[in-house]
Amino acid sequence: MIDSPKHEGMRHRLVEQLRQKGIQDPATLAAIGAVPRHLFLDSGFLDHAYEDKAFPIEADQTISQPYTVAFQTAMLDCGAGGKVLEIGTGSGYQTAVLCQMGMEVYSIERQQTLFKKTSLFLPKLGFHAKKLIFGDGYKGYVEAAPFDGIIVTAGAPEVPKALLAQLTIGGRLVIPVGVDQQIMTLFIRTGVKSFDKKTFGEFRFVPLLSDKASTAS
Ligand code: SAH
Repeated sequence: MIDSPKHEGMRHRLVEQLRQKGIQDPATLAAIGAVPRHLFLDSGFLDHAYEDKAFPIEADQTISQPYTVAFQTAMLDCGAGGKVLEIGTGSGYQTAVLCQMGMEVYSIERQQTLFKKTSLFLPKLGFHAKKLIFGDGYKGYVEAAPFDGIIVTAGAPEVPKALLAQLTIGGRLVIPVGVDQQIMTLFIRTGVKSFDKKTFGEFRFVPLLSDKASTAS
């Protein structure tokens, strides 16, 4: 299974749809136009890979809808060379989009089957994250902190304090907050203890699960 001109054409149509839905960031749209999403899906969904929909992947998880990936990536607003942390590697599609944009990407996944599969698969496609980590993203990844951007791709019942603590000054945390539905939320660190918070529309994600009930850093 490889990329082809047919798939490239489908991707360009998807990019046009995303533009019409309000995604404007040229770097994000270029990355969506370049990453072969069909290679990240189970074979049963191949024909639908470039529809703007989420699909099931292994371990009862989902590959996010392209609009959601584009929206979160644009909100992260991190250019090439920026150091970013993704919570919820899943299929690796969002990870690949960030790598495609030239970011230094760390990504954490708590489901071992997905972690193993994606760790093998991403380099085969030429997407080289700085580090893929098996563990609980609630705690962030203090070993490589601070990050210019942190993107959470699962619905967080509350904002993990560790993630705020692991941002650079000026760094951005993009996190969907809520239980059944989530409000997309952006935190920008303005000082050691100060953050600006902005909220956007409603989205629906699989839950961010934690191995510990505590959200302390
Ligand atoms: N970015 C992924 C989205 C996958 S769905 C993609 O593009 O395919 C969300 C993922 O978050 C799931 O794989 C789930 O296992 C993972 N997840 C949930 N809670 C987590 C946690 N505490 N730490 C790390 N990963 C988590």
